[in-house]
Amino acid sequence: MSALSQRQIQDCRKQLQDRETELHKTIHAALVNADNKTYAEVAGRVLDIGEQSLADVLADFHIIELEKEVAELAEVEAALARIQAGTYGECVDCGADIAADRMHVHPAATRCTGCQTRYERRGKDMSPSL
Ligand SMILES: [Zn+2]
Repeated sequence: MSALSQRQIQDCRKQLQDRETELHKTIHAALVNADNKTYAEVAGRVLDIGEQSLADVLADFHIIELEKEVAELAEVEAALARIQAGTYGECVDCGADIAADRMHVHPAATRCTGCQTRYERRGKDMSPSL
């Protein structure tokens, strides 16, 4: 069960879809302007990708210039998939409901505030231990 009402989930879905469209456009424009034959070919597919995951397609090309956009797009796509699956708004680490106001600010959030803090701290502690 999610802490979010159907109405709130619909609002988040709308936000995510808008962001997805925006990212598609940004990525398309960057590919078209890249003056690279492969990128231009990818660009032709970006706006007409249908049900396929664009983030997946782009990941195969390892386009450094678009790394950030592709990573965000993957998050947005994953969030939309969770809405579809009915698991949206649940923390992937502890399974608790993520606070509705957090989901509103970060509609692609996958962790509750506590787990996110722990997760980020873990990331910083990744220095090699001897
Ligand atoms: Zn959690």
